[in-house]
Amino acid sequence: MSIRVTVWNEFRHEQQADHKSREVYPNGLHLAIADALKEDPKFEVTTATLDEPEQGLPEEKLNNTDVLIWWGHCAHAEVKDELVERIAARVRDGMGVIVLHSGHYSKVFRRLMGTECRSKWWEENDRERIFTVMPGHPITAGLPEYFELPMEETYCEHFNIPTPDELVFISWFSGGAVLRSGCCYHYGAGKIFYFQPGHETFPTYYDPNIRQVLKNAAGWAAPCSPAMKYGKHERIEAK
Ligand code: ZN
Repeated sequence: MSIRVTVWNEFRHEQQADHKSREVYPNGLHLAIADALKEDPKFEVTTATLDEPEQGLPEEKLNNTDVLIWWGHCAHAEVKDELVERIAARVRDGMGVIVLHSGHYSKVFRRLMGTECRSKWWEENDRERIFTVMPGHPITAGLPEYFELPMEETYCEHFNIPTPDELVFISWFSGGAVLRSGCCYHYGAGKIFYFQPGHETFPTYYDPNIRQVLKNAAGWAAPCSPAMKYGKHERIEAK
């Protein structure tokens, strides 16, 4: 059965005249991310953007999403609280969510984490080296021990997130920073993955290793557990 992935992008920078992101992602970075997922036929990929009706995620679409990918930056405040609560409820019930780059400060991620989710940051065209620190984890499958991006925006510890349930990547930046850049969480029946690379003016989402991470993460985050029962139950062992 295919995994239904919805790539949500606020899609604002790429529509601003003269914004550098237009050169890199002329049709919006959601399409570059969607193309990465489409490399694997097990994913059924659609996109959604903030300015679409119901902010791109009407109830039916959200209910038919197995994994939601979230990219936002300058319009976090415009995302309606009601939508954030619906997304959180879907994750609690089993939907996966992958939060990318500046999505760390989205309402959705902060709601799910319960913390401020801020870090230090600078935009100085630094090189990023991403280390796999959990070999054998599904998200690191097929990736080298470490790989590099020639330029990324730097995020630096301390990153004010809860301690991840599984930490799969740590990044080093040539400006002297380090960051827990690939963080997994379990939330109710759902899974959450935060992945730091993906500034809108760099071609990060065309990088083959990054695309591999996105595909691996979407596979990992897909709902798979049997439905659990809660409340009063008859004893399991006979007396
Ligand atoms: Zn950025």
